[in-house]
Amino acid sequence: MTKSPKITPMLQQYLELKEQHKDAILFYRMGDFYEMFFEDAEIASKALGITLTSRNNKGDANKVPMCGVPFHALGTYLGKMVKAGHRVAICEQVQDPKEAKGIVQREVVRIVSPGVTTDDQLLDEKTNCYICSLTCCKKYGKGILLGLSFLDASTGIFLLTEFLDALEVYGELVDIITRFQPAELLISETTAQDYPDVISTLQTVLPGLCLTTRADHIYDLEQARTTLTEHFQTANLGGFGCDQLSCGIRSAGALLAYIQDTQKASLNHIQTLRTINKDDHLIIDEASRRNLELTETLIGGVRSGTLLDVLDCTTTPMGARLLKERIISPLNDETRITRRLDAVEELCSNPQARKQIRDLLAKVYDLERLCSRLVLGQGNARDIAALKTSFQQLPSLAQVLDDFTTVLFADISQHLDPLKELCTLIEVSIRDDAPPSLREGKLICEGYHERLDHLIHLLRDGKQLILDLEGKERQKTGIAKLKVGFNKVFGYYFEVSRAQASLVPEDYIRKQTLVNAERFITPELKELENEISSAQEERLDLEYRLFTEIRDRIAAESNRILQTAHQIARIDFLTSLAEASAKYRYCKPTLNFTNEIQIQEGRHPVIERSLDSGRFVANDVFLDQECNQLLIITGPNMAGKSTVLRQTALIVLMAHLGCFVPADSASICLTDRIFTRVGAMDDLRRGQSTFMVEMNETANILNNATENSLVILDEIGRGTSTYDGLAIAWAVAEELVNKNDIGIKTLFATHYHELTDLAISNTRVQNYSIAVKEWNDKILFLHKLVKGATNRSYGIQVAALAGVPGHVIQRAHAILASIEQGEFDHHGKPHQTVKDASGKHQPCQLQLFTSQTDALRDLLKENKPDELSPRQALNLVYELHALMKK
Ligand code: ADP
Repeated sequence: MTKSPKITPMLQQYLELKEQHKDAILFYRMGDFYEMFFEDAEIASKALGITLTSRNNKGDANKVPMCGVPFHALGTYLGKMVKAGHRVAICEQVQDPKEAKGIVQREVVRIVSPGVTTDDQLLDEKTNCYICSLTCCKKYGKGILLGLSFLDASTGIFLLTEFLDALEVYGELVDIITRFQPAELLISETTAQDYPDVISTLQTVLPGLCLTTRADHIYDLEQARTTLTEHFQTANLGGFGCDQLSCGIRSAGALLAYIQDTQKASLNHIQTLRTINKDDHLIIDEASRRNLELTETLIGGVRSGTLLDVLDCTTTPMGARLLKERIISPLNDETRITRRLDAVEELCSNPQARKQIRDLLAKVYDLERLCSRLVLGQGNARDIAALKTSFQQLPSLAQVLDDFTTVLFADISQHLDPLKELCTLIEVSIRDDAPPSLREGKLICEGYHERLDHLIHLLRDGKQLILDLEGKERQKTGIAKLKVGFNKVFGYYFEVSRAQASLVPEDYIRKQTLVNAERFITPELKELENEISSAQEERLDLEYRLFTEIRDRIAAESNRILQTAHQIARIDFLTSLAEASAKYRYCKPTLNFTNEIQIQEGRHPVIERSLDSGRFVANDVFLDQECNQLLIITGPNMAGKSTVLRQTALIVLMAHLGCFVPADSASICLTDRIFTRVGAMDDLRRGQSTFMVEMNETANILNNATENSLVILDEIGRGTSTYDGLAIAWAVAEELVNKNDIGIKTLFATHYHELTDLAISNTRVQNYSIAVKEWNDKILFLHKLVKGATNRSYGIQVAALAGVPGHVIQRAHAILASIEQGEFDHHGKPHQTVKDASGKHQPCQLQLFTSQTDALRDLLKENKPDELSPRQALNLVYELHALMKK
């Protein structure tokens, strides 16, 4: 802070408010601006790219750094602040400046932080915006428990879980947190101190994560229980199935208290608390999620080129969010998967109904976020009009669904509340052309409120009403020339000519006498005039009051709206899967319990979209627990090994999502986890070497895979020396076939051709390769997976294809030829690589080299070691040495 600035009453008020919100940047409302002072101004001016000025610049001592943003652009500036990871406390004037004696009263009305925001401009409509809360607590005799909860304040989704701290918990914790991709992490002080690694990993995996440390006492169990039960108005938390999860409750209670604190508004849209049940789902750990590029690409982290991008044919934001959530968390329950598949099938076989549904859903807005804005008292008339348009689609939607027969649709129809009376309420009350501001009127329809109609009539027809009164008075008084006029001194008046002044009734009040005329007012005229002149202000006030009443009435029904929103999301999700399935010719997979994965003519859902139609080469894959448990896949780079591996994992995942799969037919066994070790990318983000990442992922697989898992290994052991790498790859493969005497279904792509020998000694291992066609020293990739190993890598041909210069390729061929003929110098280097003094490569004298080797070999063969005396042995060494020198 600058040295001792003069503290004006306004600054005094600012400092008091700032004191209560030390961890936020205070946006202090002054008229049409939000101003920031002191350090806040310095931070905000940098983050927002606005000029830093100062207040009171009469001399240095009084200088207060300051900057400001116009109130109407708050959304944009808030967006920038939050994206830069700052928390912002919005302080408004809560008193009419006209009524203020001295300084206007101000209050912080809400706090916006990266994880707690409901502003449209700050949210990605296709992604949930979660805040995560983490705490740890000791459990007697059981070690340490970790409580975790997530809340999306913009939609009201609230989830909790807890873990026992064990060796693997670190990975599991990071997995689950990254699955939700929170924007903010709320953490108790002790937990932050005890788990610095978790925090630093999260901060690297989730760049921009805002860390909010809270005092331990906020995580007190009783306090947390009370916060939750008071909010949900329940006696206990049994109904949410989490009464026993004490550490989860601590975390959730502290989280809710934080939201209450920052939003300072009703949180009715948070209506239920669900437990995250880890066993309900097919688990895909963080690395596999990234490797399989489910929702963002490995390079660039973008959505285009991901499975989500291909499957996303949703037409509502709720559907898009649900799809994203479910792709990273597919099912592993046969009944639920079958229900989804049946529903998707029903939609697939009825393209007309599918189109009708999509057309209707396209007119449905983001009900969840609209609803939460209303509950928080933030929604405007346009938000409510958007609700109306959305509700208007519901009857037709229900009608289309009526013809559907599958279990899921019956369930959806049953829960789809048509919200008729809410829709009617909005139809009769809120104007379609209402402005975004709530203080300019034109919000409420005519015919909704009698007084408002009257005011509107006065404003619209005021002039005519005055003229009507003029006509009435003419008739009443018989003064034909009586006419109405207006001046600034006493407003409207009746003017009567001198000649007719005697006809003026008694209740006329004379106001002015002119040369030829007299001017009068009457109580009726004045009353009308007052009504007209105050009508505008009264109208604005009344419209605002009526609007907030309607908004509150709708907000009070938020549970019903959210219920319907969820059904819309479910319909949209299923329709999206069906649309993609139909569009891209996917087939309905069957589930089996024989532990087999049987895919006929399978394709990679993302790669096939990037190629011209029909260019993708489909492949069969068969895995079981007997003779086809571990498939070793060899083939040159670029042949399509990774593609086959990934497409198999993706097809298994898609089947568990309840989606059709890119294949001619597929029978998939119920799978508990998909593990992948794919790609040799340096994980620079985490400062780990390629090899370390590779080994971490491998360790995770070996420790956690079960006989119901699917493992995809793409090249392990490449980050170290050849022999180390081969040894590790071999041992890992052996472990995978032998684990618990049952083994794990694995696809293993490798460059170590030696590994193909595993198939000789192990009946569960099969060799496959990707076919290539050779001609004129060139290769053509056929991308076809065929039985049997290959022992050629075609590395040089691939290098040529990649554009490595011709003379380098020729040289590589020569070196390869010499290596293949076993020509090494005494350092073990291929002879062709030896250079002469001028730095040029020496021509290779193959014949000589070979005869020298032969001579050495012959001499050794002639002498039997056991028959040599020490003397003879020494002579032999001399002879060998002499031969070497020749
Ligand atoms: P590898 O893992 O063997 O080096 P990739 O699986 O990465 O090879 O495939 C390299 C490229 O070959 C892919 O990006 C794709 O363009 C093409 N490709 C792979 N498999 C197929 C296929 N089955 N059909 C058509 N093109 C394919």
